Amino acid sequence: MEQLRQIIRDVPDFPQKGIVFKDITPLLSDAQSFRKAIDYMAAPLKSREFDALIGIESRGFIFAAALAYELGKGHIPVRKPGKLPADTVQVSYELEYGSDTLEMHADAVEAGQRIVIVDDVLATGGTARGVADLVEKVGGKVEALSFLIELDFLKGRDKLTDYDICTVLNY
Ligand code: AMP
Repeated sequence: MEQLRQIIRDVPDFPQKGIVFKDITPLLSDAQSFRKAIDYMAAPLKSREFDALIGIESRGFIFAAALAYELGKGHIPVRKPGKLPADTVQVSYELEYGSDTLEMHADAVEAGQRIVIVDDVLATGGTARGVADLVEKVGGKVEALSFLIELDFLKGRDKLTDYDICTVLNY
């Protein structure tokens, strides 16, 4: 766990002044660290019954795809607008500054399916909350949310009190 903490690089003032960006690219390029990260994220999900994982564009895809392979589940991409080719459902949500929109294929989640939502970082929780709303809008159930990193001081959990949250590294 300490090895993972050390390999994640803090980049100050990215993408804007005052934000300390958690850069996971050194972790991804180190085979042993990436494998460990996936093992830690997979562990609490092994005992859960669910149908598929959602990866949130774009770093969420990396973790969700590896977890899908490890856990024997499907991977559903949630993307920025205009990227998915078939009919989509959309959600817009508030960020710290401004708002954002994400899309999912309208037929990707069937009513009653249990879904695990995956991203690299839980910050303010706005993105994860938006995706949880999207899953519920099409009749799915959020089984859990899984993040490699949680930035505790941004209190993202406060927006996600209805859900089980699994994180590996807390800052
Ligand atoms: P939020 O909606 O505030 O929880 O932001 C979550 C999204 O923004 C995730 O997809 C993260 O990848 C990204 N993000 C937010 N803050 C950071 C940060 N300090 N370092 C790296 N990624 C971040």
